[in-house]
Amino acid sequence: MAHGVQDITSFCFDLMNDRTVGLCATCKWVRIATNKRGSVFYRCLRADTDPRFVKYPPLPVLRCPGYDRRNPDDDLPAEPERDQDEG
Ligand code: SF4
Repeated sequence: MAHGVQDITSFCFDLMNDRTVGLCATCKWVRIATNKRGSVFYRCLRADTDPRFVKYPPLPVLRCPGYDRRNPDDDLPAEPERDQDEG
């Protein structure tokens, strides 16, 4: 089971859509990071302050009490590249 992690050796960015990621794909609380191996990480910022949330939620997230739809006109801030995978 993926925990906020998708490996793009088998999935390309085109497949990282609402269906494979779920609510996180359009949530204002998510940050996306990649690592040198090409993995993509969806990190939930709510997890930093609220223990009900996990840093890297299992995808796809289909229901979430913390979901706030991001304004489609807003760019999603990206995180810096990570050196290694996190569990
Ligand atoms: S609040 Fe929920 S939907 Fe939003 S990023 Fe966190 S886990 Fe994903």
